[in-house]
Amino acid sequence: MRVARVRAYRQLQPFRRGHYAMGHVGSPAFDSLLVALDTDEGLTGWGEMAVISPAYAESFAAGALAGVGELAATLLGSDPTQPRAVLAALDAAMRGQPYVKSALDMACWDVTARAAGRPLCEVLGGRHGGAVPLYNVVTISSVDDAVALARELVAEGYRRVQVKVGTDPDADAERLAAVRDAVGAEIVLYADANGAFTTSRARRFLRATRGLEYTFEQPCRTYPECASVRPHCDRPLVLDESIVALDDLLRAHRERVADGITVKLQRVGGITRAALIRDVAVELGVEVTVEDAGGASLATAAVVHVGLGTPERLRVHTCDFHTWVSVDHGRGLPQRADGGQAPPPGPGLGIDVDVGSLGAPVLDVAV
Ligand SMILES: [Mg+2]
Repeated sequence: MRVARVRAYRQLQPFRRGHYAMGHVGSPAFDSLLVALDTDEGLTGWGEMAVISPAYAESFAAGALAGVGELAATLLGSDPTQPRAVLAALDAAMRGQPYVKSALDMACWDVTARAAGRPLCEVLGGRHGGAVPLYNVVTISSVDDAVALARELVAEGYRRVQVKVGTDPDADAERLAAVRDAVGAEIVLYADANGAFTTSRARRFLRATRGLEYTFEQPCRTYPECASVRPHCDRPLVLDESIVALDDLLRAHRERVADGITVKLQRVGGITRAALIRDVAVELGVEVTVEDAGGASLATAAVVHVGLGTPERLRVHTCDFHTWVSVDHGRGLPQRADGGQAPPPGPGLGIDVDVGSLGAPVLDVAV
């Protein structure tokens, strides 16, 4: 099987609940790049890479589009049912730029599993259980708004709530305490700073929340800063933005900095590398969240398929992004049930993409 045509589409996906505010950056929408790899055997694989803001991470949708255009010559004629070989060829053609390759790698895995006639989680070789637990986010807001949103999320069936922090540590602590009061003890709480705290502010936040039950995620921007906070943190600490490659996991494990890691597909370069980091984390006994920085149905399906490959003992949670946004591009995901997301039952990612909803392609190259 060969790739005969590469198409790309750009889709803006506004947040249903309005502005999404993190500690250091906010956004009204995901800016998504969708890629279709059409093969000479009539199968098409889809991938998605959505950016929440160019200020969030070292990625932007226009950059992904330009990169995919550069890599189209390498893709055309390649066998998409050999995703690792395709990724090696992409790496040989373009150094680094993992976010550019993420949707392409996803599309290769979609084709591979479609060709096998099986859901992607099974082709990846590990379906642990039927669904991945979900969390949703209480963004930076007033205490009253945070409490109202947390109650809404629990009423919608979420059993896990992530509260964004990383502004004023005392205000953040007050918001977290109010959310804990509102949702009760049985809801799992995370406080995620997305790297926005300085080390001194992270320590102040920890002092101010000493009596609360929660997991602290990516307090500071860099790994050395997070490592310096670790001795002051007697609760679980998770690294997210610091985990860019396998070596980041190995160092965090070796230096006893992280109890868990969050793997974002686009940050590590797609499903192939996310599955590798996931599997090494499992071997090391580190808890794993597989997610992405955004998107809609394709991205959600991908993180659920890869997340199902983590044994339940070490699996944390993921996001049902397609329910966060008011614009989507396909169907196939089952309804959220018991606070979890099951993968689509069909082959591949299992998403039936509505091409008509995407407008004209922003890239279209054929052999
Ligand atoms: Mg995070």
